[in-house]
Amino acid sequence: MQKEKLIIIGSGPAGLTAAIYTARANLSPLVFEGMEPGGQLMGTSEIENFPGFPDGIVGPTLINNMRTQAQKFGAKTIFKEIDRVDFTNTQNLKVWSGEEEFQAESIILATGASARWLNLNKGEEKFLGKGYSACATCDGAFFREKVVGVVGGGDSACEEAIILSKFAKKVYILHRRDSLRASLPMQKKVFEDEKIEILWNKDVTNLKGSVLLEEVELTDTQTNEISSLNLNGLFMAIGHTPNTKFLEGQIDLNKWGFIEIKNDTRTNVPSVFVGGDVSDPKYQQAIVAAGSGCQAALDVQEYLRKH
Ligand code: NAP
Repeated sequence: MQKEKLIIIGSGPAGLTAAIYTARANLSPLVFEGMEPGGQLMGTSEIENFPGFPDGIVGPTLINNMRTQAQKFGAKTIFKEIDRVDFTNTQNLKVWSGEEEFQAESIILATGASARWLNLNKGEEKFLGKGYSACATCDGAFFREKVVGVVGGGDSACEEAIILSKFAKKVYILHRRDSLRASLPMQKKVFEDEKIEILWNKDVTNLKGSVLLEEVELTDTQTNEISSLNLNGLFMAIGHTPNTKFLEGQIDLNKWGFIEIKNDTRTNVPSVFVGGDVSDPKYQQAIVAAGSGCQAALDVQEYLRKH
């Protein structure tokens, strides 16, 4: 089996930036893109705050450009998901995609984070793809002239609501508190959008409908009063969970499951480095992920030079 100098797991801005830098440094990284390559940017429409694109750029185009750039310098990218790792021998790291084993001298972990769901334990999964979604950009167009809700009070919730208001006739933001945590410019856009209404102090406590989602049960977080709201669609925007299940027991994770960073982009395993949202519960921005992918690439080069 050929042992790679570097394996990169993840193909969002962190993984692909790491791939560009390490490919240019002649490390010929092998990039595992996963089964849903590109990460969260694939579900993003116009990105207006990624420097260098004054007219904005759509997420999938940005990702495709990054991949092409990495491949141009010799990165090998494959659409396989790594589901198991063994970091016991730090000089010979092993990873598996199903039964297929790969080995490497070093690894950059850039698996990102995934949207959180309500987890009501009341069969909510039966509405997945039938009105219950975590991606307005992907599914918004199915809700033309319909009534939809967005759960959350952060930037994501506001962004989802704004995207949905282009299609839906009415958009409710369902937020558990009495103020948004979204940035002020985002709040302003929401308040100025006539189709968007915020229902304050509301938890979604049940989803109802025969086949498609038809109604949600709301519980007032101040009074415990229960009410119902007819909705055709419900979009989740309550934060993210890091994609680290496959790393449990092999690398230090914090109590929320994010990878613990020891020093710059180093982990507790000397040959394993990290970039992007998988270790970043705070900033979660594409440009920050790209920057940390670059840092991981430079740190891995230093490691390989010394070893
Ligand atoms: P976030 O800022 O952590 O907000 C999550 C929201 O969901 C909060 O309002 C929170 O309520 C609510 N929430 C959490 N768990 C909940 C639950 N179980 N039930 C009901 N509500 C729940 O997450 P985010 O909006 O995804 O943003 C993450 C990061 O990405 C932030 O740094 C944000 O600025 C950034 N971002 C930026 C943009 C942009 O600039 N265009 C777009 C999207 C995201 P509480 O407020 O009560 O805690």
